[in-house]
Amino acid sequence: MNTTLGHIKCQGCGGKAEVKQAQRRGAHLYTNCGVCGTDQRAGRPIQTRLFFGSAWLDGEPTAPENVGSIEDWEAQKKGEENQSPKPKLDQTEEVVYSVKSTEEKAPKASKTKAIGALILAAVIGGASWAATRKA
Ligand SMILES: [Zn+2]
Repeated sequence: MNTTLGHIKCQGCGGKAEVKQAQRRGAHLYTNCGVCGTDQRAGRPIQTRLFFGSAWLDGEPTAPENVGSIEDWEAQKKGEENQSPKPKLDQTEEVVYSVKSTEEKAPKASKTKAIGALILAAVIGGASWAATRKA
């Protein structure tokens, strides 16, 4: 058994997977998830993600022979963000929320207007009263 060198978010279930290193030539990294099992894909994007994306327990291990550069990793991360648009559920919730808040705000707004009208009436009344006194 190879020792656990670090951890990374499992691509299968989103949980925490152990990152280990194969002792064979190539020094490929692989993950072992308690839910999804072992992922030993040795492709360059996989190795790049594991090498730069893992949280190492005791410093970086030997780089896999086909690992990409840090620039490759940055580009990969951006690509992943672009590929995962916000789920539609969020939009639905937003619409429901805005309808609700309009309903809640409506009575408050008219109450404020009513108070404003009262103040305005008082000011006008007061002003005309003062005008009458001066005259
Ligand atoms: Zn998993």
